[in-house]
Amino acid sequence: MTQRCVSAEPWFEVFVPSATETDKGYRVLVPWPDDQADDLTCECMSFVHRGHCHHQQEAFNSLCRWTSVDGPEEQTKEQRHHHICPRCEDETIGEAEFE
Ligand SMILES: [Zn+2]
Ligand SMILES: [Zn+2]
Repeated sequence: MTQRCVSAEPWFEVFVPSATETDKGYRVLVPWPDDQADDLTCECMSFVHRGHCHHQQEAFNSLCRWTSVDGPEEQTKEQRHHHICPRCEDETIGEAEFE
């Protein structure tokens, strides 16, 4: 069974902390797993008014998008069993769950 990181799923949400206000942050949405930084949408005012902001690139840089097919990281037996991504240690989704 193949597994992939939750960040390789459609509509993945990335939280980007604000650079100026420590208790704030913005949610950046990644509509599709093959989207580029420009395709991401952010909830901040800069994005709402101008259609782009630096959070898009920041969120894009933090995307893991690991899949067991592409690797190169390999899951240990434990990680495979517990559905843990070997790159970012977030959850993974098993392919079989979609059948
Ligand atoms: Zn933004
Ligand atoms: Zn990952």
